[in-house]
Amino acid sequence: MSCPHSHIEAALDRWSECHWHIHQMEANYHTPDLFRYSLNSFIRAAKEIPQILSIELQNHRAYQSDFKPLINSLHSNALLSVMHKKRDFIVHRGMLEVLSKGAVGTTEGRGIKISFPFPVAPYESTQEAYERFKEVCRKDKFIRSLAGPDCDSWPMIRREWKVPDFPDMELLELSVDAWRLVGEVISQIVVKLGGEKLDLSFSCRHEPEKVRTVKFSQEEFFKTVDGIEINA
Ligand SMILES: [Zn+2]
Repeated sequence: MSCPHSHIEAALDRWSECHWHIHQMEANYHTPDLFRYSLNSFIRAAKEIPQILSIELQNHRAYQSDFKPLINSLHSNALLSVMHKKRDFIVHRGMLEVLSKGAVGTTEGRGIKISFPFPVAPYESTQEAYERFKEVCRKDKFIRSLAGPDCDSWPMIRREWKVPDFPDMELLELSVDAWRLVGEVISQIVVKLGGEKLDLSFSCRHEPEKVRTVKFSQEEFFKTVDGIEINA
């Protein structure tokens, strides 16, 4: 008997590639163009999987009865459905401008302590936005006292990427959802071919809230905004 995976080798490989692109999205979350390139790589890799599965399985005797309905069920996912309908769907810079948002504030050991909306532009890195935030704090002592750190908290910026096609879901979450659904379908196919279920836990994934938030140096903030050496 042949290895169950060998029937759908190309689809499995593409699915692993999608996993890698998700890690790229995590790593580049705070650099807009790099994030978008990673997202678009994910989209390009993922959108062909239904077609690859069909090509790899079309001559199997269970194709019409079992595999085809499973492959078609992929279009129930929001992202996969848009990819299917608009074949050349990718995310342009302007699409990120409408709904993406940012916030500044402080974080304590466990999580965000205080946060205020702050216009983090979709074309600027989080580091650039932070430099602007510090400039605002230097000029406005009231904002500094509200939104800046004290001796128990650290300055932070949190941002979130969204596009109008999916107004309710952040793009990294959306991608992980699509990855998981593709994985579920491939897993069911593998089982029907006589193999074991695939691992869909994505345990190597980074905590979404941590990906969205960048914590900055408390010491550097006090020094460059307030002119105070806190560890002197
Ligand atoms: Zn991983």
